[in-house]
Amino acid sequence: MSTITTAQNSARANSITLLDEAKAKTNLLGMTQAQLSDYFKSIGEKPFRATQVIKWIYQHGVTDFEQMTNLSKSLRDKLMFNACVTPPKVIHRQYSDDGTRKWVFEVTGGSLVETVLIPADDSKVDGRKTLCISSQVGCALDCSFCSTGKQGFERDLSAAEIIGQLWVANASYMSDDNDSLADIDHSAWENKVTNVVMMGMGEPLLNYDPVVGSMALMLSDHAYGLSKRRVTLSTSGVVPKMYELAQDIDVALAISLHAPNDELRNELVPINKKYPLAELIAAAKHYVYDVNPRHKKHVTIEYVMLDGVNDSDAHAYELAALLEGLPSKINLIPFNPFPHAPYDKSSNNRIHAFSNILSQAGFVCTIRQTRGDDIDAACGQLVGQVADRTRRSAKWQQSIKDRSAI
Ligand code: SF4
Repeated sequence: MSTITTAQNSARANSITLLDEAKAKTNLLGMTQAQLSDYFKSIGEKPFRATQVIKWIYQHGVTDFEQMTNLSKSLRDKLMFNACVTPPKVIHRQYSDDGTRKWVFEVTGGSLVETVLIPADDSKVDGRKTLCISSQVGCALDCSFCSTGKQGFERDLSAAEIIGQLWVANASYMSDDNDSLADIDHSAWENKVTNVVMMGMGEPLLNYDPVVGSMALMLSDHAYGLSKRRVTLSTSGVVPKMYELAQDIDVALAISLHAPNDELRNELVPINKKYPLAELIAAAKHYVYDVNPRHKKHVTIEYVMLDGVNDSDAHAYELAALLEGLPSKINLIPFNPFPHAPYDKSSNNRIHAFSNILSQAGFVCTIRQTRGDDIDAACGQLVGQVADRTRRSAKWQQSIKDRSAI
């Protein structure tokens, strides 16, 4: 015989109702101005409320509607009942002696993704701090030198999970000594991240709408107000989406190139088989020249230096010829080996010789400084735990076992 009383049943029903309500709350984090205006219209409020709430969330770091004091009490109550501002859950954070910071987030579904903040060498002078943001859980593209690619792909991140990485990085400067967000002094809130690169886990152009919406918030004067030169999207070459991007938003563009000819790039960056170099360079020229041609732009070419693979003098001359006519800055990235990686890092002498050839050909060429060594934080080396839907992770583990058995 059941011993559950009517009162207990009623209490359980109430708690279920509350749980359902909590689940049904709309997360306002990551909504663009237009989406938030529509949201306020849908709950019978004036669309200008969107601007007020965006300012509270991104310029003051406020997630509690009760603290949004220029909203009426009735609107605050309505929002508390129907909505929330919820950044992704930080399960681990690590701060390096050189100022680099890394966060591991657990996103919906239990997978882990990483975000890294890297201060410039001279950040004490210009305060530049660059955040490398992930756009997907894992990556479907399987570039042969990339540890993220070896983990396979699970899913796209939501806009809240993307812009939330920036929100958390800024909050970290306020909350280091506090255990909860409630302890943060929002009146003293100051956004610290000065530059963003969409260059972490995933191919951002394959998660287009949430990425572009998040970048719009980064540029918006009501939200983060970053300059368009300080927000960079890095793509491995999803050519049709590059044309779409040129129409939709004006941000800096970086291309993960890594090889100066199709044969080698097909091996290192397999999406090249679908969109070969001629199409990729044409799309990059369109991005620079055809959209807003009065605005002087260039693309950044990312080139990872792999010993004996893509780092010869001949490759450097071939690269200079390929990029002729495309305003570019070339960033050479010393390879950061991961366990069982099939490549080695080029020597410093080789990297400098490669760089000299490009400089003599008239290109601005930089060599990325490795930062955050003690927390393994180089961009493009972000790892996490991905519930791989592509079985690539299992194949990679098997190939390691096969190699060890030889
Ligand atoms: S380099 Fe970028 S596009 Fe290629 S597998 Fe890694 S995360 Fe994906």
